[in-house]
Amino acid sequence: MLRRAESAASSKGLRLARKAWQLLHQDAPRSIECARRALAQAVAERDVPGQAWARLAIGYHLLYFGTPAQAAPELTAAQRLFDSFGERAGHILAGAGLARGLWREGRFAAAIDHVLPLREEGLSVLQHEQRGVLLNTIAGCYSAQGRSEQAFAYMYQALRDSGPTHGHGFDAVLHCNLAHELLQIGDYHEALRHLDQGIARCHALRNPRLLGVLLVNRVICLTELGRAQEAMLDVLRVRELPTGVDGRGTMGASFETLAIAALRAGELAAGRELVELARRAPHADIPDEHVELAVAGALLAGLEGRWVDALRELDPVLAQVSADDGEAAEGLSLRVRCLYLQIRAEILEHLGDTVQALAQLRLWQQLHVARAHLASRARYQAAALQTELMRLQHKLDEQASERRATERARAELEAANAQLSRKIAEVESLQAALKEQAVRDALTGLFNRRYLNETLPTAFALAQREHQPLAVAVIDFDHFKAVNDRYGHTAGDTLLAAFGQLLASHCRKSDVACRYGGEEFCLLMPRTDAATARRKVAALLALWQQQRFELDAEMVSGLSFSAGVSDSKRAPLSPQMLLEHADQQLLAAKHAGRCRVLADSALAAP
Ligand code: GH3
Ligand code: MG
Ligand code: MG
Repeated sequence: MLRRAESAASSKGLRLARKAWQLLHQDAPRSIECARRALAQAVAERDVPGQAWARLAIGYHLLYFGTPAQAAPELTAAQRLFDSFGERAGHILAGAGLARGLWREGRFAAAIDHVLPLREEGLSVLQHEQRGVLLNTIAGCYSAQGRSEQAFAYMYQALRDSGPTHGHGFDAVLHCNLAHELLQIGDYHEALRHLDQGIARCHALRNPRLLGVLLVNRVICLTELGRAQEAMLDVLRVRELPTGVDGRGTMGASFETLAIAALRAGELAAGRELVELARRAPHADIPDEHVELAVAGALLAGLEGRWVDALRELDPVLAQVSADDGEAAEGLSLRVRCLYLQIRAEILEHLGDTVQALAQLRLWQQLHVARAHLASRARYQAAALQTELMRLQHKLDEQASERRATERARAELEAANAQLSRKIAEVESLQAALKEQAVRDALTGLFNRRYLNETLPTAFALAQREHQPLAVAVIDFDHFKAVNDRYGHTAGDTLLAAFGQLLASHCRKSDVACRYGGEEFCLLMPRTDAATARRKVAALLALWQQQRFELDAEMVSGLSFSAGVSDSKRAPLSPQMLLEHADQQLLAAKHAGRCRVLADSALAAP
């Protein structure tokens, strides 16, 4: 049957619903958010398994955070949906949820009648953590009936079945349940140990209800141990958690328990406020809660010196507390009955009724003996459970440390990779810079002669193929030696660099400007004939003459150069020939008096 649900695992709704189920204890707000999205998705996709699992997760969330009345319709709907496609595991889990709802309403016998028939089939069809849910529900029902031995046994089995890999915050739940049961049999120190561990585990979870229940249980332990003052810290922490669906739950706010701690600690104002809250809070029909509320009222009246009122607060529940075993209200725990009788005896003593006080203490003693019997029967189971829980804890810790080690190793690897990538990038950019340096002239930033030698043949061949002219200009500064002599070599360098900038900024993208050597430059102009090139270089000469420089504290302008221009139509045989033609024109320009640009006008002989 499970297979059928799994086969639809590709549907988004179902996947979300499963995630919601997994997050139930781990991250309650995300769990319900996932479940709601899963339901919408599954409805849109007409995906029945998705809807069923989503409603199951919503139902369980409402069991914990809402009321049984809110949870029941979701769980019933889920069960119907599961039945429609024959999913027994889902049916059983929904049934366990409904039983849990009955138990939370105080209908303990009905709850156990509902859940026990699911046990056999559940153990054969449910998987790990699902079995845990069923077994824990049975344990809870037995616990509520005061049958600690059975409660421990089922918790033990739940723990063995759910194992650490299927933990999902389940271990914190178990610490909580185990502590609650230990508290029933009076093992407060042991209970405290588990509560401390459960509360520590809660830091990794987002489950305010679970944290709230753990803290309330610690308040009970500390109060019973006579350390109510210490319990006040937890009382404050619980008070900081809001009640309701988005907080630590709508039902079982336990204000009466907190009130008892506060009043035992002598905190009158806090106690009074908590009693008020307890009276106003919604209560299911849970006998322990009613008796504790009466006790809290009595303690408040007593602390205010109203001893007669204090006794009156206790009277309404006297019959159910002091009834013979078996006749006492179902689900009223021995712990709360003992608490009640103890407080009643204290009040009677205050009122001077020592005879009645003694009678209460006798009754208290009888119940105490019963509790000791219960404890001795349950203790073996409790010990086995504690051992198993320790083993689980150990495994979880080991897994966590393994995970941390893997994460550390991965982080180290990532860091090493990042460093390597950085190094590669560095080397690459260094290589690029070197390559650039090899073809660049450092002083002017123009290309160097080597680059010209590499480029010219290609540019020449391209021009021939495209039947386009390629112009070449060779430029040589006039009387540059004299400039150097007069202003110094450094000043000469400044002029060379400035000319480099001028040349670069007046070139087209396709032009190649080079420093040919010393104070000679060469400009390649693709798709340009000699006449056009000549005009361009002449314009450059005009600009250069206009530039003013401050050399050796003297303003200098009117610098000039001579240039010779040719193009590949005029010198078609080789790049070398083209350069020579331009050189000849340069020479002619020098001879003609310098400061001019001459172009090759005659076509070379073919
Ligand atoms: P002209 O070309 O007009 O005949 O006269 P000129 O003085 O420029 O003569 P020529 O071209 O033969 O001389 C080149 C001079 O350029 C020689 C040298 O002092 C100078 N020169 C060459 N390379 C550099 C350089 O890198 N820096 C500086 N400051 N001067 C250089
Ligand atoms: Mg020269
Ligand atoms: Mg010169």
